[in-house]
Amino acid sequence: MVFSRQHCRVHIVLLLILCACRVSAVSAGEWLSGGRAIMGTEVRVELWADDADVGRALQAQVFAEFERLDTMMSPWKPASEISRVNREAARSPQKVSAEMFNVVLRSLHYSQLSNGAFDISFAAAGQHYDYRSGKRPERETLKAAQAAIDFRSIVLDAQGQTIAFARPGMALDLGGIAKGYAVDRGISILVAAGITSAVVSAGGDSRILGDMGDRPRMIGVRHPREEGEYAAIIPLVDTAVSTSGDYERFFEEEGVRYHHILDPATGESADGLQSATVIAPLSLDCDALSTTVFVLGIERGLALVNSLEGVDAILIDADGKLHYSDELLLSTTE
Ligand code: ADP
Ligand code: MG
Repeated sequence: MVFSRQHCRVHIVLLLILCACRVSAVSAGEWLSGGRAIMGTEVRVELWADDADVGRALQAQVFAEFERLDTMMSPWKPASEISRVNREAARSPQKVSAEMFNVVLRSLHYSQLSNGAFDISFAAAGQHYDYRSGKRPERETLKAAQAAIDFRSIVLDAQGQTIAFARPGMALDLGGIAKGYAVDRGISILVAAGITSAVVSAGGDSRILGDMGDRPRMIGVRHPREEGEYAAIIPLVDTAVSTSGDYERFFEEEGVRYHHILDPATGESADGLQSATVIAPLSLDCDALSTTVFVLGIERGLALVNSLEGVDAILIDADGKLHYSDELLLSTTE
C-alpha cells in the first residue's frame, strides 16, 4: 500500500454546524490539566475551575470513575464483571449491573445497525492476537473462533438484567465502546459539579464540554502515517469525537498490517481504512461508531453515518484520501 502525502495535507475543516462560535465571558479561574494511565490508554481531564482545589478534586473523581469502570469492564481482570460473564454465560444467564447491561445493549444496537460490523463477541477471535509480541492465530484457530462470533447469540433479558450466550466458546470484549461510556460518565460528574468548560479524553475518545472561553476547542485528527502530524483540525464545541485507527496497536508481517480492529466476518483486521473519526453528542456513540465505520469501509460507513441524525464523520481511506459525511459544512484551506 502506497501512501500519498498529497492526499493528506492538513485540512482546516470548518464545522460550522457544530461550532456555535459563541463568545462567553471568562470568569476568574484557571485551566487544570492532568492525565493518568487507565484502561490501557492515557485518560486526560482538562477543566476550567474557579477554585483550583475543587477542580483538582473533581479530576481525581473522574480518574476514580475510570478505575471503577475498568475494574468492571476489563476482560483482562479475572474478577471483573465481564470476565465472570465470559466464564459463565454459556452455562447459565448471568445477572449483571444496570451499567453493564446498558453498555452491552448499546453494543447490540450498533451490531444491528451495522449488520454485525460492530460485534463485541469479536473477542472469540480477538483473544488470539497479541499486537505487542506480533502473535496472530493459525487459520484453524480462526475458523473455530469464527463460529463463536455472533451478536445474535448474546441473549439479554431486561427483566432479570441477565446476559447469556446461546453458543459455546463465546467471549465479549467491550474495548470498542467502554472508553466512550467512561468519558460520558466523566463529563456527567463534571456537569453535576457545575463545571461548564472541560475536556475528558481516553486515547482516541474525547468529549468537549462547553468551549475554551471565547473560541471552540481545536481537535486534531492524527495523521495515520506521519507521527506528530495532523490530517485535519476540527473546531468543536459541546460534542464528542472519537478516532479509530489502524496505527494504534499493530504489527506488520510480509507487508500486511495486523491491527486491533477486526472484521467479525473474518476474524482478521479490517483493511478498507486508515482511520475513522466520528463526531456525535455522546462519546459512547462516537466510540462504537468509529470502530463500526472502520469495519464497514468508506461507502457503507458513510451511508450509515449519513443516515444518523447529528452524527458526522471524517474517514481516511487506504490511500490516505479524506472523505467527509454529508452534513459537514466544510471549507478546505491548503
Ligand atoms: P481504541 O480507542 O482502543 O484504539 P477503537 O475505538 O478504535 O479503540 O476500537 C478498537 C477496539 O475495539 C479493539 O481494541 C477491540 O477491543 C475492539 N474491537 C475490535 N474490533 C471490533 C469489532 N468489530 N466490534 C467491536 N469491537 C471491536
Ligand atoms: Mg471505538
